[in-house]
Amino acid sequence: MGKVLDSNEMMKFLPESGQILNTLRNHLISALGLDRAKGFLLRYGWDCGNNFSNHLRMKDAYHTLTLKELFIACSHMHGITADLGISVKELYIDPVTKDYYSEGYWKHSQEAEHHIATFGLSSDPVCFTLIGFAGGYVSNHLGRKVIFKEVECERKGDPHCHWIAKPVLGLGRRNRKRAALL
Ligand SMILES: [Zn+2]
Repeated sequence: MGKVLDSNEMMKFLPESGQILNTLRNHLISALGLDRAKGFLLRYGWDCGNNFSNHLRMKDAYHTLTLKELFIACSHMHGITADLGISVKELYIDPVTKDYYSEGYWKHSQEAEHHIATFGLSSDPVCFTLIGFAGGYVSNHLGRKVIFKEVECERKGDPHCHWIAKPVLGLGRRNRKRAALL
């Protein structure tokens, strides 16, 4: 696993680049409002995740890993590298049909903590670069567009950020059943 994923390399691709992102984020939200800034931040995170996936694909050992290993290893290393608490509650992947579902939690999201410090608590989730990064990374490896969505966020005063992820179109039977429950 270490031959493919390396925490020092990963640092260069993570969207959470500290002060620079925080400053940029504040200006974007102040100038554009939260809804429009969300689009920019999501795309930025998505590109980071997509670029990181492309970087891993160039490694010889890439093809020795399963999709599940690529997703779990990335979550684990992201947690260590960005000091983010990540727990994956559920991960279902069908490598043949590309059916996909995942669900889990982030704790101590830098985006949420910074947003609360600057703008205070509110009613909407705000971890846009995080969901973008995860979506770009998973979609690239899976070969199918997967969207991550927060159903809870520390910014709202929730105890953690709780995300669910599924493909945009063409849900398989298992995902259709799950989607109906959400
Ligand atoms: Zn959040």
